[in-house]
Amino acid sequence: MDLRDSPDEAAFRAEVRAWLAANLPSEPGREWSRRMYDAGYAGLTWPEEYGGRGEPYTHQAIVLEEFARAEAPQHVNVIALGMAGPTIMAHGTEEQKQRYLAKMLTADEIWCQGFSEPGAGSDLAAVRTRIEPRNGGFVVNGQKVWSSFAHVADFCILVGLTDPAAPRYKGLTYIIVDMKAPGVDVRPLRQLTGEAEFNEIFFTDVDVPADHLLGEVGGGWQVAMTTLLHERGTLGFALGGALEQQVMKLVALAKKRAADDPIIRDRVAQEWIELQALKLTNNRSLTTLMQTGIPGPEGSGSKLHWSEQNQRLTKLAMEILDGEDDGYWGHQRLRSRGNTIEAGTSEILRNIIAERVLGLPRSR
Ligand SMILES: Cc1cc2nc3c(=O)[nH]c(=O)nc-3n(C[C@H](O)[C@H](O)[C@H](O)COP(=O)(O)OP(=O)(O)OC[C@H]3O[C@@H](n4cnc5c(N)ncnc54)[C@H](O)[C@@H]3O)c2cc1C
Repeated sequence: MDLRDSPDEAAFRAEVRAWLAANLPSEPGREWSRRMYDAGYAGLTWPEEYGGRGEPYTHQAIVLEEFARAEAPQHVNVIALGMAGPTIMAHGTEEQKQRYLAKMLTADEIWCQGFSEPGAGSDLAAVRTRIEPRNGGFVVNGQKVWSSFAHVADFCILVGLTDPAAPRYKGLTYIIVDMKAPGVDVRPLRQLTGEAEFNEIFFTDVDVPADHLLGEVGGGWQVAMTTLLHERGTLGFALGGALEQQVMKLVALAKKRAADDPIIRDRVAQEWIELQALKLTNNRSLTTLMQTGIPGPEGSGSKLHWSEQNQRLTKLAMEILDGEDDGYWGHQRLRSRGNTIEAGTSEILRNIIAERVLGLPRSR
């Protein structure tokens, strides 16, 4: 397999780099996301009838890599582009696709994900938020937690329980909730870093129309699996690019502060080697995606590798700084703690790799 860019890919990469050099914003947000969309870099692989460009996944991978390398802010609608959009494309009606998809790309409507609850994180099938079929639609009561972007979101993809008596996995339903509807209450949560990127969401008798159902009543588990495969599967290239930046910053720090220390040199070199391994794994995931159109379970390997490496290397940077906080690495070290929890904890990802990639017997 030739891993170098084809002439077409090399030309596209040069175009992306030139655009980034001329357009890097001083601030992230809707305005930047809109400019990304206008330039053709949001929804690259999405069908043209839904506002996308119909381009190959290789171009998407190039955009993610180059944006990460340039340290460009992400599109503000990460949940929509990475999860809600692909899920609506897979399970939505034609009316839902026409209604929601294009506005995700332009960032006119922001999305959040309401999966986790105080008593249901890794075990999504344990959700207790009630989605009761009533008056031809649904009524929602319950609480979600750790919902990133909920404080700015217009819509939420929500998994809840329609039939408490049904066998596990069978009583769940997946709906779209309007975050501005009466009865939706969002309360920000402050993180270790001092920022408040995620929230609690309380639902009290929230009316949801029937056409906000995704898939079947009681079929929410299958729809949710599509969301989670996309969450982990499409993340890889952006993570690889971001990690490359981190490793290069670590090298610069080591050169300045610990160039003669043989143990530090050895540990920094090891981080570079681990980065190369991640990049090769990402190429393997890309091959699966191009062959099937669906991210494979290998995406769990990339997410696990990246999150654990990012924690390790931010710790190494702090060791090199010897207790001094230069502002950057201290923040990175604190934020990296969440990396091994969000989008599947390391333990859960190891279970997925063991069972679904390696074919080992189920753990329970
Ligand atoms: C920064 C950040 C952003 C997030 N954004 C969102 C969001 O937008 N929307 C959303 O819905 N959620 C979000 N989450 C929540 C995240 O998905 C959950 O925290 C995660 O799934 C873990 O669930 P939990 O916190 O309930 O932990 P638990 O599931 O209670 O796990 C506790 C511990 O037990 C371990 N464990 C659990 N089950 C097993 C098992 N079967 N085998 C081995 N070990 C196990 C876990 O690995 C963990 O160490 C976010 C989390 C973070 C940190």
